[in-house]
Formats: sequence, structure tokens, C-alpha cells
Amino acid sequence: MNKSNYIRLFANCIPVKGAKNVIVCDIQRSTYFEIDMVLHDILVAHSNKTIEEIIEFYGKEYEDEILNQLDQLQKEELVHLTTENHLFPKLDLTWETPSVITNMIIEYGDYFQEKETEIVNDLIKLGVQYLELRFYVDVSNETLQNILQSIQKTKIVGIYLVLQNFPYEDIDKFLIENQRVMSILLSNATDAEDERYKDYNKISVVKHKIVNNKNCGIICQNSFQVNLDLFTESQQFNSCLNKKLSIIENGDIKNCPSIPEALGNIKETTLTEIFDSKEEDVNKYWNITKDQIEVCKDCEFRYICTDCRAFRESDNIYSKPLKCNYNPYNGKWEDNLRGSK
Ligand code: SF4
Ligand code: SF4
Repeated sequence: MNKSNYIRLFANCIPVKGAKNVIVCDIQRSTYFEIDMVLHDILVAHSNKTIEEIIEFYGKEYEDEILNQLDQLQKEELVHLTTENHLFPKLDLTWETPSVITNMIIEYGDYFQEKETEIVNDLIKLGVQYLELRFYVDVSNETLQNILQSIQKTKIVGIYLVLQNFPYEDIDKFLIENQRVMSILLSNATDAEDERYKDYNKISVVKHKIVNNKNCGIICQNSFQVNLDLFTESQQFNSCLNKKLSIIENGDIKNCPSIPEALGNIKETTLTEIFDSKEEDVNKYWNITKDQIEVCKDCEFRYICTDCRAFRESDNIYSKPLKCNYNPYNGKWEDNLRGSK
């Protein structure tokens, strides 16, 4: 390693420091690496020093250790050497979207058939990009297909389905014909279904029955997402509730289905009317970032973890999500079941 060079993290590899641990989020390869605190300081606080100057700063006795660690980072393709440090600016982490609402959760209910056209038109007007469609009862092939067809004219790029039953025989055909379906969560699954879908990346099965929105908000390592969109949005906005609207089973319109406050009911109003007349209530939680939330603000996972304001540790609007068992002060998941990868 040429010690007259500077060592730089690639722009897409961004370190995030927690109370005890540091991770480097690789938002291009969608993964993260754990590094130690001293290495973080070398890469961040001493980024304007050459390797030689860094060794001089820490003392010659640490030279081998420093060089070994930097060598390891190079092998993992997190850093590169350069003589022209100034030519590598940091990524701009501003998050922007042309959509009024980016995410929508719809719990299927009695209101749906009558209001379907209005709802779909509003999904278009609001520029919704991702839709989670939840069924708490069995759905027929015809109903599901009709909904998926009517959504085709929207700008939605990703659909997440929560189902009690999967009403198609041929799952491969369904996934090919409905490319925008990004994931299916099959609740109340039998052992046979568990076996049948185990090789499908897009399908998860759970044995218990999901009958309402109390199941939401579980935070674990499996739910982390390392990508530019979430990383940048989390810097300024809430990583779950920003630009989200929901319609729950009885037609109430809310920011999130599990939050108590209803903004109106779809039987009496429309999504756009709610947004135009109650913008301040709609966006009550949108600007709460992980950097403001108790405990999360000291967690190294804060920009790859979705938040939850519906299930919190206390009434304090800034308290930690209730269904997260990670302790960033000792770096441990307190419950192996939730925390395990
Ligand atoms: S705030 Fe919590 S309950 Fe609501 S959608 Fe987000 S994770 Fe789910
Ligand atoms: S402490 Fe907060 S940021 Fe860290 S994993 Fe839990 S919910 Fe996510």
C-alpha cells in the first residue's frame, strides 16, 4: 500500500456511527459492513491525511494494524487510494419526489367495490408509487385480478400483497403476468403452502392468521433495507410515514392503519380532498427523523431501518419503536427470535 496516498471511502459507502458500533452502508450493493470505531475515525476525522500522516498521528507501533485494516477494507471494495483527495466529493443526500403521496396502504373492506374508481383515480392524481394491499379475509381470483387490472393505469411500480389465501393455482404464471407484485405475505399458511412457496423470493408465509393491522411495526435485521432511496429519505423525513396514506377496513383514512387518528372516511370523502383540506394533520409524523427519536438517534442502523410511530415505547411522540429489541448502547438484540438475521 502506497503510504503517500489518501484513503477514501467510495461515495456510495457511507459510514453511520452508533453509540457502540459503526456500519458502512453500501447503498449501491445493498449491504452493510461493520467496522470498528478507530477505523471510522481514520476514514472520517482523518480523511484529509495521507496514510503516512495517519500512522504518524496514531504512532508507529500501530502501523501494521492500521495497514492490515485498510487492506481489508480495500479487499471488500469499500475504499480506494488516491493522490487527488479533492476530486472525490460526497454524495448529495437530498431526497426529492414529484409525488404528493408515494406510499399507500389499502385494507380491503366493504367500501372498496363502490369506491374503487374514485380511489384508483386518486392514486393516479397523487402519484402513488408503492401500494400495500391487505386482505384480512379470503379473496377470490376474480376480485384480486380485477383490482390488479384497475391499478395497471396508475404509476404504481411496486405492489405488496397481504393475503389469507392465494387464489391462483399457477403461481409462476401469476408472478409473470403481474410483474409489479414485489412481494406476497401469505398468512394462515398450511405446512403444504410453506413447502410449496419456500423457493420463491417474493413470497413469505406465516402460520398465524393476520386479521388486523396490529401485526405491523416489527423491526428486525430482516427488515433492514440498504438503498439510496431509504437512506436519503431517512435523513430528512420519517422512514415509514412520510408521504403515506392508508384506508383501513372500515373506510377510515389515516396516515398509517395502526395510528388511532382518522382523517375522514372514504365513504364520505376522497383521498385528494383529505390531503387538500387536512394537510397539517396528514403530515403530522412525516418530518420525524430517526435522528430525533430516542435511542434510534444513537443507533448505527438508523438510516436503513424503517420507523414505527404507531407502536411506540411511550406516549412521547419521539419514543423508540416498541417492536424493536435492539440496544445500540451494548450492540445486542435482546430477543434472538426478532433480532436474528
Ligand atoms: S407506523 Fe408502524 S404500524 Fe404504521 S405502517 Fe409504519 S410500521 Fe406499520
Ligand atoms: S434502535 Fe431504532 S434505528 Fe436501531 S434498529 Fe431499533 S428501531 Fe431501528
